[in-house]
Amino acid sequence: MIRKVDLAVFDRVAYELVNDEIVRFTQEFVRINSVNPNLAPGADESQAAGFIASACDKAGLQVQLTEIASDRPNVVCTLPGKTDRIGLLFLGHTDTVPFLGMENPLSGEVSGNYLWGRGSVDMKGGVAAAVQAVLALARAGVELEKGVAVAVTIDEESEHRGAFALAQQGFHADYCIVPEPSANQILLGCKGTAPIRIDVAGILAHASNPWLGVSAIQKAANLISELYAMPMKEFTVSELGLTLRGTMNVGVIQGGTAYNNVADKCSLYLDRRMVPGETQESCLAEVRSVLSALTTNDPQFRAMAETSRPDWHWQPIMQRGLNPAFTSGSSPIAQAVRFAHQEICGEPAVFGYTNGYMDMDFMVNDLGIPSINYGPGEPGMSHTAHERLRIDQLVTATRVFALAALQLAL
Ligand SMILES: [Zn+2]
Repeated sequence: MIRKVDLAVFDRVAYELVNDEIVRFTQEFVRINSVNPNLAPGADESQAAGFIASACDKAGLQVQLTEIASDRPNVVCTLPGKTDRIGLLFLGHTDTVPFLGMENPLSGEVSGNYLWGRGSVDMKGGVAAAVQAVLALARAGVELEKGVAVAVTIDEESEHRGAFALAQQGFHADYCIVPEPSANQILLGCKGTAPIRIDVAGILAHASNPWLGVSAIQKAANLISELYAMPMKEFTVSELGLTLRGTMNVGVIQGGTAYNNVADKCSLYLDRRMVPGETQESCLAEVRSVLSALTTNDPQFRAMAETSRPDWHWQPIMQRGLNPAFTSGSSPIAQAVRFAHQEICGEPAVFGYTNGYMDMDFMVNDLGIPSINYGPGEPGMSHTAHERLRIDQLVTATRVFALAALQLAL
């Protein structure tokens, strides 16, 4: 059972939450370029981390910057309680995907109910809401029993080095909220993602005599049909009355050397989304069994599969993989957010499960911290050329975070 805090205490905190200030802070954060350097060389997350660190430092929070890679620091800001325990951790990331055709990606412009910019939804809005909630707790001077922390990590959009490092350091917290965009729904779990590269080999020949060669592209075309026909595992989340299913998508094909050559090489990258019960190894094994069945039927078919993704070079993440995670809706973290959402919005929160992947994986699977996803922004806006954050969701999430933190840390 979660405790239902005295709402008079929350009123003191809510008094410190000024909507214009929440929006202004988010605008400033969005205006900082923090594109992931794996995806656009030359960028880094350090200024964005510095922005969060300095806001928290000024408010008297404990601030720890840890350089994970060159100029790429994680930042952990803690409002301490009377004990050493952390009652609630907010886990976000500083990096964004590249601008990808977005006009004025760093404008942070407000128009009507929207705040525009790359990262406004994924996930500077969520991080700003968490930080503003914790700063309001600090200003209100509420004496907490346990601490409340905000960890903002690097590299979520690529190799997840920030969350990996946090897990390796053995971070302790009772519960975690990942404020990735969920349109302020409570999402209890995430799918995993297994990146697989398949190299198909052929025999080079001139296109005028194709019978002298073996086309890797033709073999790959057949393979792709077989991959899409693979049966996908299902997982039923009985408390949500929801059946999840694994999916797969071939996102990249590279092959051939010239228009008048029979291709001797063709490579595919596929993204296999996993439900609980699946692992990177089990998905790779399934793909390899498709390859061996094709080889049995066609002696000219030659291919091999391995874990790989175009932007991944770092061995530890290739070995660990990115796994599915789930926390029950009856857990104190889900119940605390549910209560807070009901109080702030006057209507029940919607529960669900995201098809996306999130760093809650590291919290749940490596650190054993029950975690849910709740954050402002429509998830479908993430990474798009028209990424914009709903301001009403931003200010609501900030209040929900403050009230949830009181329930878990007071
Ligand atoms: Zn994100």
